[in-house]
Amino acid sequence: MKQITILKNPRVRIAPSPTGFLHIGTARTALFNYLFAKKYGGKFILRVEDTDKERSEKRFEEDIMEGLKWLGMIWDEGPDIGGQFAPYHQSERSERHRFFLEKLLNENKAYHCFCTPEELEAHRNYMASQSLPIKYSGKCAGLDKKETEEKIRSGAKSVIRFKVSAKKIAFIDLIKGPVEFDAGLIGDIVIAKNFDESLYNFAVVVDDEEMRINCVIRGEDHLSNTPKQILIQEALGFKIPLYGHVPLILGSDRSKLSKRHGATSLMEYKKDGYLPEAMINFIAFLGWNPGDEKEIFSLQELIDAFDITQVSKSGAIFNIQKLNWLNGYYIRQKTNAGLSGLCMSYLKEAGLVDEHTDQEMVEKIVAVEKDRIKKLSEIAGITEFFFKLPGYQAELLIWKKSNKETILDSLMATKNLLEGLDEKEFSEIRIKSVLDGALIKFSSGEVYWPMRVALSGKEASPGPAEIAFVLGKQETIRRVDYAIEKLKLSH
Ligand code: GLU
Repeated sequence: MKQITILKNPRVRIAPSPTGFLHIGTARTALFNYLFAKKYGGKFILRVEDTDKERSEKRFEEDIMEGLKWLGMIWDEGPDIGGQFAPYHQSERSERHRFFLEKLLNENKAYHCFCTPEELEAHRNYMASQSLPIKYSGKCAGLDKKETEEKIRSGAKSVIRFKVSAKKIAFIDLIKGPVEFDAGLIGDIVIAKNFDESLYNFAVVVDDEEMRINCVIRGEDHLSNTPKQILIQEALGFKIPLYGHVPLILGSDRSKLSKRHGATSLMEYKKDGYLPEAMINFIAFLGWNPGDEKEIFSLQELIDAFDITQVSKSGAIFNIQKLNWLNGYYIRQKTNAGLSGLCMSYLKEAGLVDEHTDQEMVEKIVAVEKDRIKKLSEIAGITEFFFKLPGYQAELLIWKKSNKETILDSLMATKNLLEGLDEKEFSEIRIKSVLDGALIKFSSGEVYWPMRVALSGKEASPGPAEIAFVLGKQETIRRVDYAIEKLKLSH
């Protein structure tokens, strides 16, 4: 494709504003940029757009960096590691912005606008009442240098406006294809509050140029900013980068993804026990697919398969079931030791383990539940009974087609059989064959049902032999004894 052959060494960026925690949408935009850069041997740059002093916070910046790193998207240049085009905090670049603001003003491509908020509002209301496109009237565009200087001297407040020429702006978007805007509808835009406080459309153009960004991949919500940015690039004689606007992420009801649909902050998914492999795989599919049936992709496989021109033009639905399915898949790929390591913080938080807990036992427990959990945070609830037997009603021990006396006999018989097993022989297969030995006298419900309840306190659990193996001989016998006593005492 034409666009891609132009770009031998793409330089792309993710330019988050640290005004909130890393949003899933930003993570997805970052990923598409990252994949594009890595596929074509380019560079992925992190620029922190922290010019909004009131809303930008360090903790948000840290969260964004931590999230990107967690997903494995390591940037080639950025505020923490520097790079050829530092600084990478937008707030530290105001001298560069000022230089180009002055250039535009000197070349009469921008001007000071002294209109008050009241005047602007009155004009907007008038345009609306006439059903005309709402845009700035151009009132201050005609002020000459002397008038402007006098007003500034007299203390009148002003902003800097860029002269938008009324012409058609056309470009080929990597995702959306040909796009055209009528800049005549835009009107002169404010590009800076003053020389030290540039606004987004202007600052982004200067920084992209100075950082040699040649491809801008970002959210569709910025599409309407692109013609403004192209006009500024033209006015300053900058190279116009390629653009690709990524579709919005939608909730299951097809409205824009918001907190209403669940967590939107990436790190909340980490806390909830989603694995970065699953998250990356899932996020890549929000608006892109490889065009075949393959669903499991590592980051490297995504780099190989990704094609920006195949990103969907319309919104991508966030489907949590799909994420859960992928996460379950990646959980099952972990070694037992690896998985139990990942589960430790959840087990600790639930008060089930501490530094004295036998690691081998934790590994065994986690292994039993490995196929059942969809996210790591489920591990505590699902394995709790291994660590401490929950309370249960004695009646629960009685298999519904049996009675108290038979169940007591069966529990005592199985207990005797288990006691006959040596500690070292206490394997799942041996336990199972011992339990099966009781089937000569009892039905399988009479053997397995009370054993399950005695060991887990629950109606549904992994098989009793599996649990007994994990608990070990001593604890198994202890729990069976307890069940026998409980049942004897019941009426
Ligand atoms: N700071 C802007 C944002 O977070 C960046 C937009 C862009 O990529 O140009 O939305």
